[in-house]
Amino acid sequence: MQLSLPLDELPILLIVRHRLQAIMGPVPELLFLNPMSQLVFAMLSKRTRDETAGRVFQRLQWRYPSWQRFLNAAEDDIRKIIWPVTDWQDKLREIRRMLTLVKAQRGSFDLTFLAGWRVEQAIAWLRRFDGVGPEVAATVMNFSSIHARCLPVDRHLLRVGYRMRLTPSPKDYDRGFDCYERLIPDSWGAHDLDALQYYLKRHSREICTRANPACNRCVLANLCPRVGLPS
Ligand code: SF4
Repeated sequence: MQLSLPLDELPILLIVRHRLQAIMGPVPELLFLNPMSQLVFAMLSKRTRDETAGRVFQRLQWRYPSWQRFLNAAEDDIRKIIWPVTDWQDKLREIRRMLTLVKAQRGSFDLTFLAGWRVEQAIAWLRRFDGVGPEVAATVMNFSSIHARCLPVDRHLLRVGYRMRLTPSPKDYDRGFDCYERLIPDSWGAHDLDALQYYLKRHSREICTRANPACNRCVLANLCPRVGLPS
């Protein structure tokens, strides 16, 4: 894809995606979980590496083939599987409370009804549960089979966004979500947001790292006011 307009006439996220895509190649095929599975996985993933959370989530699914069996299980039994995730006691309490409330309110653990809601309304509903912030709620809407047009802004997107002056804080998920939302081109759909999320996350892990950003190798350097400054 060629970008023929001058830089200052193009949406910034379009340029960012274009440049990262040019060096990283196509986005790998993504696996979309059902919305409840995605919610539990995202709650486990907070402050934990995706690979660790993924292994724990898979083992939980093998051990407890239904959420009801997970709810009925003894904490000691679950602990043997869940302990590698950060703050597992808090997360286990929050997940079980969320499952209990969803079952009480909806009569099942099925969250697919959210697909018929406006994204903002669905995110507000999800955020009523302890342990569900804007990033977790957004992943349920975008990374699950709902696949809505909604960008999950995690710590990687916050860090790069903050350094590029797209977001005002590297820690404020609410404002980060709002700032990115305003910058998303109107023509973009859910797949475009998957791609942006994938490229920015990789960029944060491989180039714009927390402690030592490699600005001299960064394809976004001429867009970034932070270039060359200490982290
Ligand atoms: S120029 Fe440096 S600080 Fe800016 S996005 Fe690139 S690596 Fe990050």
